[in-house]
Amino acid sequence: MRRRRKLNVQHLLLLIATIGIVLSLLIILFSTVSNHFKKDDTAAPATAVPTEQSTETAAAPAPASATPDGESDPRFFDTNSILIVANKKHKLPDGYVPSDLVEITSVPKQDRQEMMRQEAANALVAMFDAASQQGVQLYLTSAYRSYDYQVDLYNSYVAQNGQAYADSISSRPGYSDHQTGLACDLGQTDMEDMLDQTFINTAAGQWLYQHAHEYGFILRYPQGKEAITGYEYEPWHYRYVGVDTANAMYSISPDETMEEYFHIEGGDYAQ
Ligand SMILES: [Zn+2]
Repeated sequence: MRRRRKLNVQHLLLLIATIGIVLSLLIILFSTVSNHFKKDDTAAPATAVPTEQSTETAAAPAPASATPDGESDPRFFDTNSILIVANKKHKLPDGYVPSDLVEITSVPKQDRQEMMRQEAANALVAMFDAASQQGVQLYLTSAYRSYDYQVDLYNSYVAQNGQAYADSISSRPGYSDHQTGLACDLGQTDMEDMLDQTFINTAAGQWLYQHAHEYGFILRYPQGKEAITGYEYEPWHYRYVGVDTANAMYSISPDETMEEYFHIEGGDYAQ
């Protein structure tokens, strides 16, 4: 009996001790788990915010309401838009002719008709005037090119040197930035048709690289962006996108491309 009672007392003490240990363990476990979740709650925004910011900085803030996927943004594919994109992945509609082309007569150019869309033409003349006032004489080599003109041009390159070569220096009909009526090839009056990468070393090439955005023009095919634009570096080819967009793009880099800024596909032709 005594022994039994003793055992019972021992059992009771053991039970109390066990309950105590289990409770302590539960409390420790609970506090660890709740601390863990607390940490997650506070840590999450702290790490998420910089990630979002750095992504935005790296991916370039798109204009106004642009989506991260510009492919679904009609502003980049509506022919009335000055942001319309023509590249080797995005063909212009068959037979597309801009409806507001105007002839450009008041700038130094060859003796042939040159046209651009109204808004781009006005900006071009303003840009030529500003450059002239700063002692730089720009020259208009080529502006709007029709689909039919591009057919002849492209076919002549193919006939001379084959399709691979033609694709490297010219656009297939329907894919040309010049068909938008918003693009132009520029030179310097005393050099005229200098469609050559050394154009960047001329006064006109330098002035355009530094100031064209102030008039709404961007360097369309920058150096080092060949895989993105699908074209070789063309320091003479400028594209009108409007002053706001050109300034915003330039503030990222003078070499920012439409493909990067609008988040749309570029590069070579789809095979
Ligand atoms: Zn061009």
